[in-house]
This record gives sequence, C-alpha cells and structure tokens, in this order.
Amino acid sequence: MRFRDPEKRKNDFKEVSLGLTERQAVKEADRCLQCKKPHCVAGCPVEVDIPKFISFVKEKDYLGGLKKVREFNMLPAICGRVCPQEHQCQGNCILGKKKRPVSIGAIERFVADYEASFGQTELPEIRPSNGHKVAVVGSGPAGLTVAADLAKLGYEVTVFEALHEAGGVLAYGIPEFRLPKKIIQREIDFVKSLGVKIILNWVVGRTQTISELFEDGFKAIFIGVGAGSPKYLGIPGENRNNVYFASEFLTRVNLMKAYKFPAYDTPIKKARRVAVVGGGNVAMDSARTALRLGAEKVYIVYRRTEHEMPCRHEEVENATEEGIEFFFLSNPKEITGDDRGWVKGLRCDKMVLCEPDASGRRRPECSGEEFTLEVDQVIMAIGQTSNPILVRSIDGLNLWGEGYIVADRDGNTNIKGIFAGGDITTGAATVISAMGAGKRAARSIDNFIMGRTAPQPAER
Ligand code: FAD
Ligand code: SF4
Repeated sequence: MRFRDPEKRKNDFKEVSLGLTERQAVKEADRCLQCKKPHCVAGCPVEVDIPKFISFVKEKDYLGGLKKVREFNMLPAICGRVCPQEHQCQGNCILGKKKRPVSIGAIERFVADYEASFGQTELPEIRPSNGHKVAVVGSGPAGLTVAADLAKLGYEVTVFEALHEAGGVLAYGIPEFRLPKKIIQREIDFVKSLGVKIILNWVVGRTQTISELFEDGFKAIFIGVGAGSPKYLGIPGENRNNVYFASEFLTRVNLMKAYKFPAYDTPIKKARRVAVVGGGNVAMDSARTALRLGAEKVYIVYRRTEHEMPCRHEEVENATEEGIEFFFLSNPKEITGDDRGWVKGLRCDKMVLCEPDASGRRRPECSGEEFTLEVDQVIMAIGQTSNPILVRSIDGLNLWGEGYIVADRDGNTNIKGIFAGGDITTGAATVISAMGAGKRAARSIDNFIMGRTAPQPAER
C-alpha cells in the first residue's frame, strides 16, 4: 500500500493511504492460491467469498469482483480501509504461515474505488415488496447492514438516526484522513439505492418511543445504537478547561468540521502540547487529529507497552512517522492546572508489567516513580460505553454491564420483535463485527416476521 509523505500529510486532513494501483492489485490477486478450503473466509465475520472475488480481479474484471464482495458486504470501500484484516481474513490466509499473506483488504478497497472512478455495478437482486415494515435504530455499520439485507428481501426499511449525518462512528469518529466522508456517503447512497429510507435527527426514545414505532406498523425493530458515551478515568483535574473526551473532540472535528473554523461555526480549542490517554484506535485518531490541528507536540500516554496496544499496528507506524511520541508504561494520576483552571500538565505514575489479568494482558502496577508532562490539552481516549437514552426507555429489556443490551448471536433480545446488535450488545468492538451482527439479525428478523421460528429470549 502506498502512503503519502508524513511531512506533508501531517498538516492536512487528506487521506493518508493511497491504495493499490491497478498493476499492484492484479499482481497481489495473482498471489492467491484459490484454496479449496479457504481459511481467509473463515476469518471474515461476514463470510465474503474471498477466493471468488479475487479471481475476478486476476481476470481484470474489477466490477465483477466488487459485485461478488457486495453479495456479502455492503460497505467494501469502508472495510477495505478500516477493518483489522491482519487479525481476520488476512490473519488466516494460508500464505501467511510462511511468507506475506494476500493483501485482501487492499484488493477489496481497490475494487470499490475502481467503481467510483470508472463505472457502476448493477444493483443486486431485490425481491418484490412483501409489505412488511422494519425499523432500524442507528445508522452505524450494524444498522446499515441489517437495513440493506432486509431491503434485498423485500422489506420496507426505515433507519432512524439521532445525528444529522448517517454512518455512526464511521462518520463522527473515524477522521477524514483515514476514511474520507465522500467514501462513506457513496456507500450510504448504495444502501439507499436498495430502497432503504434514512431519517436523520430522530432520537428514538425521545423523538419517538419504541412502543410508538410498533403502533406505526413496524413489525420488528433492530437496535444498533452503538456505544458512544465517554468513559472517565476518575482522576483529579478531569474537569479542567481544555480536557476533552475523545468522542466529543473527534465529533467536533470530523462531523462538525471544526478544523475548518470559522468557515464552519464549531470551535475547537487548539493546543501547543497535547497528551492523549489510551492505546486504541480512538487514541491514535485523536492524537493524529490534534497534530493536524497544529499542535507542536502530541504524546500518547498508555499504561502498558506497545505490545499490548489494542489499536491496529499500522496506526502506530503512521503516528510514529508523523512525529507523535509514545509514553508507554505511564498511568495518569492527575491533570494539573493554572489558577484560572486551564490544563498545565499531566502527572503520571511509571508502571511495570506483572502477571496477566482477566483480559489475558499483563497487568500494569505502579513502580513508585512518577513524572509530569507539560501539556496544555488532555484528550481522554480510554473507551466508550452505552448511551442510556434508548435502552433505559424500554420497559423490561434485559441489560448487562454498563447498560449494554443482552442479545444472542442472532440478535434476539428478551422482548418479542426487538432485535439488537453491534457495539450496544458487545461493548466497543469493530466495524466488521457490527456488520456480522447486522447480517445475522437480518436473518432472524426475516424468520420472525415470516413465522419460520419463534425467537428464543436471550439470556446471558
Ligand atoms: P455506531 O457506529 O456507534 O453507530 C450507532 C449509531 O446510532 C450512531 O450513528 C448514533 O448516533 C445512533 N444512535 C445512538 N442512539 C440513538 C437513538 N436513541 N436514536 C437514533 N439513533 C441513535 N473499528 C474498526 O473496525 N476499525 C477501525 O479503524 C476503528 N476505528 C475507530 C475509531 C474511533 C474513533 C472509534 C470511536 C471507533 C473505531 N472503531 C473501529 C470501532 C467501530 O467504529 C465500531 O465498533 C462500530 O462503528 C460499531 O458499529 P455500530 O453500528 O454498533 O454503532
Ligand atoms: Fe487466497 Fe489466502 Fe484465501 Fe487461500 S487463504 S484463498 S491464498 S486469500
């Protein structure tokens, strides 16, 4: 994969990775062994027929390849960019045992981008209307997938989205330089072309309740509202001026285009020295965004080592090339401030790693030493949790943990006609796992409405 020069790209929000050229895509497709029992497919949560789609690329039939991918995955340009393929399809590719696995994600992205430049695949088969209405709450990858799959089966699907743009985290969380908005819009337009209706600025649980949706004639409701509320560290100083939570920071910049202030009227406080706390994709995106807003120094502060970081390795490489500095084995204990309440520094404990904890990762413990980073902004990116607005408004809905919905693998909840999937059932996960949940829930909803099987109440 080609990438833009770090010295140039760190000053703007244009896409960092440039994708494969046609020659590279065909060469890469040629490496595929067309395995009879393809392990790569087993590693894909939506079970794309990978050898088949790659065989089209070998033959230079790129639109044919894209059509094959879309039989399983409605968001190929997005997945080709942000899926952690190294742990999924590519991670399972047989070639990876001895040498480099086939770059499946990059080829997927290539066919999707090829369509944008050179043509349009025909729409998949859409069955005639069966007259049944289904409501989908949330337009993230889970919701869009359920909606697309049910529309193809002839359902009349309406997606209700709380924000003024569709796409969920894809639109408000993942920055433009990793996933350009026009790519998301193209994929959403494709879902709409299947007949899916998307209603924006509609907070289900407030604007309209779930009971009212049933009264409006929706036979089933899928809840895919994600896990977008911030988590707090609970250290002194978290309420100082210029402490952001990553979800707010990224939403302001990505969705509300604060980086184009004053052309767009959402302000964001620019800082000289920024500390981002966390080690996942959200932390990486926040750090690289802060850099592009003009910070002179950006630090990632993480309590374990690089080895335990949950983000994609590629993101660490990209961030390092752009000049972001990492403070590993460092755990924040206080955000210090000046007498007007503005951030002045981040006090941290130096940590050491001990035995593995329940997550299987080695547990960090204080070493007894501490240090202070001089910064004027802190961004907390230590995870997200469920938003209570909708889930707490549904009487009798089984919840677990911090307000996540209990649903089985097929999306059944304990309430008849209500299905759920994606981050609101699992906690923060990945785009493709949300899509996989959406696919399975679409099958369950179809079975439920057609009376093929009675959904079993979900237990945890
Ligand atoms: P979401 O994408 O969260 O979508 C839920 C939607 O529901 C939102 O649009 C929300 O506004 C809407 N909603 C909420 N409440 C209501 C309501 N009451 N009424 C109507 N609508 C409502 N995963 C990867 O695989 N690769 C990555 O590189 C990656 N990077 C990430 C970077 C960031 C900054 C973040 C935050 C996450 C990242 N993830 C990544 C995780 C991934 O984006 C999520 O796991 C995925 O988007 C979850 O999909 P979802 O459909 O369950 O929910
Ligand atoms: Fe091709 Fe690798 Fe899949 Fe085999 S496992 S079909 S080589 S991509």
